[in-house]
Amino acid sequence: MSDLVKAVVDRETCFSYARCVEAAPDLFSLDAEGKSSARDVEREFDQMLEIAEECPMEAISLIGSDGTIKYGLNAVGGNSPLPSPGDDHQ
Ligand code: SF4
Repeated sequence: MSDLVKAVVDRETCFSYARCVEAAPDLFSLDAEGKSSARDVEREFDQMLEIAEECPMEAISLIGSDGTIKYGLNAVGGNSPLPSPGDDHQ
C-alpha cells in the first residue's frame, strides 16, 4: 500500500525544464514566467516519486496528507505552504 502525497514546486529552484509537465501534464503546468506549479491533487507516493525524480533541479517535493515531507527538501519558496526545512532544527 502506498501513501497519498501532493507535489509542491519550489519556484526559486525550478529552471523551466518542463520535464514534470511532460511526465504529468494533468498535474503540472508552466506559468507565464516559465515556472512550474502543481495542482492541489493527491496521488500515490510511488507514482508521484517517478514524476518528481524527473526534475533535474530537484525542485519538486512530495508532501504527505499529514503535512510531512516525504521527498525533497527544496519546498521552501514560491508556491510552497511549508516553512523552511531548517526552522525546527537546532
Ligand atoms: S519543476 Fe523541475 S522539471 Fe518541472 S519545470 Fe521546474 S525544473 Fe523543470
